[in-house]
Amino acid sequence: MRDVGRQKMPAEAVRHQDERGAAAVIGAGIVGVATALYLQRDGWQVTIVDPEEPGEGASKGNAGIIAQEHIIPIGTLNTLLQVPAMLIDSTAPLSLRWRHLPSLAPWLLRLTLASRPSRVEAISRALAGLLAGVLDAYRPLLESAGAPDLLRYKGLHQIYQIERAFRRDAAALEIKRRMGIKLEILNGGQVRERLPALGPSVRHGVWYPDCAHTLDPHRLVQILALDFARKGGRFERRKVDSFTCDGGRVTAVRAGGKTLAADLAVVSAGAWSRPLARMLGQDVPLESERGYHVTLPGSGVELETPILSVDHGIAITSMTPGLRIAGTVELANLEAPPDPKRNRILETRAKTLLPGLKIGGGSDWMGHRPSLPDSMPVIGPVPGCSNAYLAFGHGHLGLTGAAVTGRAIADMAAGRQTGFDIAPFSPARFS
Ligand SMILES: Cc1cc2nc3c(=O)[nH]c(=O)nc-3n(C[C@H](O)[C@H](O)[C@H](O)COP(=O)(O)OP(=O)(O)OC[C@H]3O[C@@H](n4cnc5c(N)ncnc54)[C@H](O)[C@@H]3O)c2cc1C
Repeated sequence: MRDVGRQKMPAEAVRHQDERGAAAVIGAGIVGVATALYLQRDGWQVTIVDPEEPGEGASKGNAGIIAQEHIIPIGTLNTLLQVPAMLIDSTAPLSLRWRHLPSLAPWLLRLTLASRPSRVEAISRALAGLLAGVLDAYRPLLESAGAPDLLRYKGLHQIYQIERAFRRDAAALEIKRRMGIKLEILNGGQVRERLPALGPSVRHGVWYPDCAHTLDPHRLVQILALDFARKGGRFERRKVDSFTCDGGRVTAVRAGGKTLAADLAVVSAGAWSRPLARMLGQDVPLESERGYHVTLPGSGVELETPILSVDHGIAITSMTPGLRIAGTVELANLEAPPDPKRNRILETRAKTLLPGLKIGGGSDWMGHRPSLPDSMPVIGPVPGCSNAYLAFGHGHLGLTGAAVTGRAIADMAAGRQTGFDIAPFSPARFS
């Protein structure tokens, strides 16, 4: 139902097409690497440009969930109503470093405007279209890398301890149902039967069978990047600092003193993409929603599926490196140092869900979600620069949406239709 309009091409035909030219993909996070792989499959000679090794940004430490159900934007009336209480509680799932308020104000204003029910409905519909194909889009990349088991197809449990929070989510669940997301409402006992590590405080759950997860998001990027290199893809360990444009087209990407000729350029530098898009003539209101994780190798807890606690704004996933507790949102900027108190909050909140959880000996991390105020990424050509594409701003959904984004960029660059309505993701919406 959701994959209409896509012109199917046999995989082999795609792989053996004549070369299309040189493509520069800026950023080696999950979005950049997946995009590079799809362009490579289409015959482009692709170079990924990044000063870091693949997967060192936000893609390194996320919660690992392919959250195909996650179609409700972060900005809703429901969220706005909870903001004042959260801002005065220093342990709440949302925190703001007040001195950054002036620079964040335009983004917050746009988020507020995007929270109108009519916009929420439209954004959810657009995201449902994008996310319907996420597992389909990952499959050929994982098969080609010889690592189909990097994803587990076990679904996701969203859980609630607070009765009021569950009732408040009724409208969101109704939208999801209407948009074709498969879900099942469970009571506390039913959730505990499936996930015995959960304690008695869990009162409600929602089961999403079509979600998946990875046991190691960092390794996922690394393995895909290795496959890209094995198939002739190149890496430049440099920071992109400018573009050369001629006649409304990019002709070269300049990075750390080197000029790379380019017939196609894709900006997929996550939370660092805004200045690069500006250089191409398109400003996009991108901010970082900073998130934290703690990974506990000796947690004493094993979960069959990831869990998403609505009350605490955290996800918990059993992974190869240990039990990962990840989430919460901190609004500051890209430079502010991490606040280790946020990592400890994750542990204490998780303990209320998992009474047997052993805390200690874990590793702490903070990462930058590249977030746009309407919770939708930009995926499409830069207005006025037809061979430059933007592919960033996936916020809470970068792992989920990476492969389908990469496939869409390759489709657009080849003049094919994407398999979903791409118009709502156009960078031109911010013109
Ligand atoms: C705590 C937490 C939990 C999360 N959980 C999930 C989850 O369960 N599921 C999900 O789907 N998403 C999740 N996310 C979101 C997800 O991690 C991000 O949306 C995603 O990783 C973004 O990927 P990216 O490739 O766009 O950016 P990144 O992974 O940040 O990569 C950007 C790359 O661009 C490079 N770069 C920057 N500037 C330049 C330049 N000038 N030139 C060249 N390269 C440059 C950087 O070095 C970096 O390697 C989570 C995020 C956080 C913080």
